[in-house]
Amino acid sequence: MSKTTQRGAGQPNEDALAYERLQSLVNSMADGVIAVDDEIRIVLYNGAALNLLDSNRSITGQRLDKAVKLFDANRQPIDVFELVRQTAVPTSTRDLLLHYPDGSTSNVYLSIAPVRLGYGSGGDKGFVLLLRDITREKSLEEERNEFISVVSHELRTPIAIAEGNISNVEFLLQKAGSADAAIIEALKLAHHQVLFLADMINDLSTLSRAEQGKLVLEVNAINLHKMCSDIVASHRQEAEAKGLQLRANLHPHLETLNSSELYVREILQNFITNALKYTDTGSIILDVRPKDEGVLFLVSDTGIGISKSDQERVFDKFFRSEDFRTRATNGTGLGLYVTMKLARLLHATISLESHLNKGSVFSIFIPNMGNEPK
Ligand code: ADP
Repeated sequence: MSKTTQRGAGQPNEDALAYERLQSLVNSMADGVIAVDDEIRIVLYNGAALNLLDSNRSITGQRLDKAVKLFDANRQPIDVFELVRQTAVPTSTRDLLLHYPDGSTSNVYLSIAPVRLGYGSGGDKGFVLLLRDITREKSLEEERNEFISVVSHELRTPIAIAEGNISNVEFLLQKAGSADAAIIEALKLAHHQVLFLADMINDLSTLSRAEQGKLVLEVNAINLHKMCSDIVASHRQEAEAKGLQLRANLHPHLETLNSSELYVREILQNFITNALKYTDTGSIILDVRPKDEGVLFLVSDTGIGISKSDQERVFDKFFRSEDFRTRATNGTGLGLYVTMKLARLLHATISLESHLNKGSVFSIFIPNMGNEPK
């Protein structure tokens, strides 16, 4: 039947043609597509979905949770019925496993979108699921993360030794007062670059562990006074070298915070290192206050600031502003991405307020956690 005859033949044929077109479009897709009605019964699917389910039987009319068995990343079964039914806005995830009757699994990408099945606003409510086998991608990702994790771990010791030695030589030469200014300058530069390498390796190491789900959370009672004065002391020299003021303001009624000291330090250090990097004149202040059931930390600077459009992207992986003043410094665009990963682990919330050419305030609220690892 030609297209022209169908068009001329009135509404029912037009519907049939549109349905056929939809069917062939869905069938030509490489991703598995399954549409379910409001009761989560399968009303439409394509060949790719059957391939992925490793089945050649029709699944029309079956309840989705009978046909598709999913596990979460910890290999715990997921209630597929509830998962779909509770989807109010389009969502997607790459962390699920599709479970087969013989016990094997595949990593899958799953997206769920609530839709109207049928035409116009009168169509019945339902959901469209898109499924893709990402086992190979996941295993490559795991290999890459494992590689980064091992390499960054192995690089830590030699870099720490190099950093320590450069720092000692700098100190000894300055103390002796006899060294050529050019030698001191060269050493300073070498020291700066080695510190940058150390930071980068630290970010890479944390990132690869986070992506492998291997970040271990050890909760301690953090002595906030000690931690903050350590952090400020370790950045004082850098601040003085740039002529910047760096200080901590601690609220008088601060008690200890139960969280991971290691990760809280890493987060604050990332904020302070950035503030130092992106500020040329003025001050950097670390404010610490009790708030609700936790502590609010604010790192404010009087630096270059971040434009409104960049503010939405600073936590993205590898994002660095196009601003020439950002590009004048070394950076990987990983620091804030790692910071966000750590914040999620601590159930913390980060916010950012910034004005271009005036400065930025990065704040993080960290709640008290129980002592058992979460
Ligand atoms: P990096 O500093 O290595 O580039 P980050 O992930 O730490 O990576 O930061 C991402 C980007 O966010 C930076 O490149 C910079 O453009 C912007 N940024 C972060 N902190 C500040 C700050 N305090 N002031 C101005 N810009 C900042």
